[in-house]
Amino acid sequence: MIFRSALPDIEIPSLGVYQYATRNVNRIDDSKPVYIDAVTGAELTFGDLKRDSKRLAAGLQDRLGLKKGNVVAVISPNQIDYAVVFFGIIAAGGIPTLANPGQTPKDFQAQLYDSTASIIIAHPIALATVLEVAKNYKFPLSKIFLFGGEEIDGIRPYTDLLGDREAEPVVFTEKELKETPAFLCYSSGTTGRQKGVMTTHYNAVSNFEQYKTSEEVKLHSGLVIMGFLPFFHIYGLNAFINTSLSIGSTVVVIPKFDLTIFCTAIQKYKINMAHVVPPVILLLTKSPVARTFDFSSMQVFISGAAPLSEALASEFYSIYKIPIKQGYGLTETSPVTHLGSALNPVVGSVGKLCANVEAKIISEDGKELGYNEPGELCLRGPNIMKGYWNNKEATDACFDSEGFFHSGDIAIVASIDEDGNFFIVDRLKELIKYKGFQVAPAELEALLLTHKSVVDAAVIGVWSHSEATEYPIAYIQVKPGVKQTDELKKDIQKYVADNAAPHKRLRGGVVFVEQVPKSASGKILRRLLKAKSQHK
Ligand code: AMP
Repeated sequence: MIFRSALPDIEIPSLGVYQYATRNVNRIDDSKPVYIDAVTGAELTFGDLKRDSKRLAAGLQDRLGLKKGNVVAVISPNQIDYAVVFFGIIAAGGIPTLANPGQTPKDFQAQLYDSTASIIIAHPIALATVLEVAKNYKFPLSKIFLFGGEEIDGIRPYTDLLGDREAEPVVFTEKELKETPAFLCYSSGTTGRQKGVMTTHYNAVSNFEQYKTSEEVKLHSGLVIMGFLPFFHIYGLNAFINTSLSIGSTVVVIPKFDLTIFCTAIQKYKINMAHVVPPVILLLTKSPVARTFDFSSMQVFISGAAPLSEALASEFYSIYKIPIKQGYGLTETSPVTHLGSALNPVVGSVGKLCANVEAKIISEDGKELGYNEPGELCLRGPNIMKGYWNNKEATDACFDSEGFFHSGDIAIVASIDEDGNFFIVDRLKELIKYKGFQVAPAELEALLLTHKSVVDAAVIGVWSHSEATEYPIAYIQVKPGVKQTDELKKDIQKYVADNAAPHKRLRGGVVFVEQVPKSASGKILRRLLKAKSQHK
């Protein structure tokens, strides 16, 4: 059967992301701070944002010759002027591709190359990475700019591009809105390496509207929202750059999670709404210090990006008495497709379908299943990506003939109230998520094969109760004659730590195997390894 959202269908406004986010439906004043730095207290007003994004758009067009459809890479932790850069690129007709500043030069180079970005705007903490890539890739240094307002090693700040002219933000036709990517976030999807997800203007605007109709908290300009989730990931991007701006609320920006800064910010700025990942809920639940802060302004915690256990959600609520609910989605779904209820919580559920979303649950042989039957969750709606950037093969592999996107997650629709509460019970795809960050096993396996003692490798996720997240664990077949020692395990872990981003470390450890289990066609049998890891 096909499950349909219980909410009435909504009209999707025919607007580009820039026009949607700045149309100011709640009539806020230009002097209102829309971003506040939680640490320094620096502010960016709505007026600053509109003016500087249009000045940047003019600079990109006039001085760098940016044309409609050109890609610009942004590599930075959260900053109050991140939205200036994001919307400046879009206003100029460009497509931002957003990158994790913690990634290795090799990973950034892959994103730069795949996305065909011709300009880079980087935070100084990512400058070493960017310069290394620029050298290997012969990327012109004159096309690299910095956040932070200062020139470093001859690389100029992006603020140098702000001239007197304010560009007229590019407007898209109805057809273009559905075909043109507004931005490219990177995701490994169900298999393989990172791919550029084409979130069109129509996809993005749809999801902001879908989220708003599903949210029980009244979304108004008086809300103060916690902004610590990374803006380079679609979850943070949607919550803090697009939705928040379109309602004219204020986002308190935290560049990197720190429990004390997080709690102090809630108390100081009287934050009402916080989007988090399960490990943050765990920290708040276990930390005696967190309980000493005044959270009385908080109306809701929304947990997404990874599974939140029933036990943890209940424990958190029993301490703080602040409603907590889950959201579910993927980069490929722009992102939210399900939102839970804080008023009538169904514990453990990721919630119900957002407006305009349809779902089906299918068995391994592709049969449609009904209530209470676990199977792969497939989704259809205006927020489902157009496809992967320059990758028709990967795009074709994740859509079926009925236009449903295959999520790679195993879900059950509970018949408890015939209301369609979805539960995510397992993952079919190989993806691992460490604290909400994607770890693509294929990338780590390729890296492990370059270690001098390794002949074959498979990486899967194991659940860590102590951190409420998955850890990558590697199953390793060593070369003939190599001794399987604890030193070698440590050496392999160090090799990954030295050559991969911090969130990809083999925190789950290394296990030696005689042979990596594979199917006749050579596919790693991850299920067998999963079963093995659970019986460790
Ligand atoms: P990403 O594209 O990085 O947002 O990752 C999407 C994946 O995160 C989904 O396919 C799920 O495997 C996982 N995920 C997202 N939200 C939830 C949730 N509430 N519960 C369980 N898994 C989730």
